[in-house]
Amino acid sequence: MANSNQPLIFEQSKTGRTAYSLSALDVPAQPTETLIASDYIRRKKPELPEVSELQLVRHYMALSRRNFGVDNGFYPLGSCTMKYNPKVNEVLARLDGLTHIHPYQDPQSVQGALELLYRLQTNLEEITGMDAMTLQPAAGAHGEWTGLMTIRAFHEANHDSKRTKVIIPDTAHGTNPASASVAGFETVTVKSNANGLVDLDDLRRVADETTAALMLTNPNTLGLFETHIQEIAEIIHAAGGKVYYDGANMNAIMGVTRPGDMGYDVVHLNLHKTFTGPHGGGGPGSGPVGVKKELAAFLPKPLIIQKEDGSYGLDYNRPQSIGRVKSYYGNFAINVRAYAYIRTMGGKGLNQVSKDAVLNANYLLKRLSGAFDTPFKQLCKHEFVLSGSRQKALGVRTLDMAKRLLDFGYYPPTIYFPLLVDEAMMIEPTETESKETLDAFADHLLEIAREAESNPEIVQEAPHQTVIKRLDETRAARHPILRYRKNDREQQ
Ligand SMILES: *Cc1c(COP(=O)(O)O)cnc(C)c1O
Repeated sequence: MANSNQPLIFEQSKTGRTAYSLSALDVPAQPTETLIASDYIRRKKPELPEVSELQLVRHYMALSRRNFGVDNGFYPLGSCTMKYNPKVNEVLARLDGLTHIHPYQDPQSVQGALELLYRLQTNLEEITGMDAMTLQPAAGAHGEWTGLMTIRAFHEANHDSKRTKVIIPDTAHGTNPASASVAGFETVTVKSNANGLVDLDDLRRVADETTAALMLTNPNTLGLFETHIQEIAEIIHAAGGKVYYDGANMNAIMGVTRPGDMGYDVVHLNLHKTFTGPHGGGGPGSGPVGVKKELAAFLPKPLIIQKEDGSYGLDYNRPQSIGRVKSYYGNFAINVRAYAYIRTMGGKGLNQVSKDAVLNANYLLKRLSGAFDTPFKQLCKHEFVLSGSRQKALGVRTLDMAKRLLDFGYYPPTIYFPLLVDEAMMIEPTETESKETLDAFADHLLEIAREAESNPEIVQEAPHQTVIKRLDETRAARHPILRYRKNDREQQ
């Protein structure tokens, strides 16, 4: 990365420079007006940069080197499961037979693709302990919404119209309350106890005849296993509600236990997290939803089925379905990658993944717990939450430590989430990292903790090694520059 610290120059355009050449016209030229409706014809030339091919290549190469991904380095972003994406998945997703087909083709002519999706569905049903599965949803949040709409349709079919509330613990991922409200529910918060687990008394207090569902991740968003999960499910079921599993991160339990066996009725998965689909940059993702039998009729349509003659097809004959939630069959190529991953690992392999993910997280927790406050004392699952409150007393915030990690070449952990931990730092190493990587990361974070005591300025003023220092994050989010416009930079 020799020159990756040089400033990028965006205004390189010189009139008349091109990065392409087109072959001579081999058909008679026709006036544009005869080919395109006049409304669509440009009146003015587009203001595009005029650059040479070499300039173009260097510009994008320089940009790509500034990108940080799991292929560049350690990415311990809690709740995001930034594991390595095996390259064999890419090879398989690119196979001609899978890329040169079209979703409008007659199902008879794409039996292989349908079989793959059907097998993926069946494998995911087995992994989650569910009876039916849709592969349509495009991401985790979309899966949550789909699952909740399915629950809503179930209650409506039973004329149970009082069920307007979804119970969500205070540790939940932000998409949970958001999805519940987009699905038309009110959200009710259930408190966590001092051990970071659902407070059963509080749950009994809030669960009643207005409860449509409880949304609960297990292990929860603190990385802790809800040991009373069966009791929790019983409380909700006794009140007439359904139990929803946010399975975005299955990394601690895959092949070990199943939401279906814990008493859950609905689960969504993030194939772009647990099942090695690449993510970041906005997708594409895949958020399949699995349900127990009594909810199956309400899943989106079509479902992929195997017919009596053994062939595969699309079942549209589903009168109680909530309808289609995504065009075609979901994000096909991500589903191919997930299927490739499941087949490569096998059942034993997936079980080992969970054990290694939990081992790696506990190893890091142990190494870091002397220098940072650990709000919860029990063993963690695939991730854990530290508190930077000790460092805060020295004037060093968790944000400062996260920025300091950039100097050492790491993507920082998730910070200030979950909200109930002061100065939270949520670390998820995943199973794909080696002991050497974990040790190097722990050494650097321990060094930062020592710096907070001996030389706080170096942490407070970090990062020192990156091209761009601290961003105005509000401005970056509110006024992003996403496309080239001549002289745009001068207007900013
Ligand atoms: C990532 C995540 C989600 C949301 O998934 P998207 O694909 O980003 O919509 C939901 N819940 C949890 C626990 C997550 O980690």
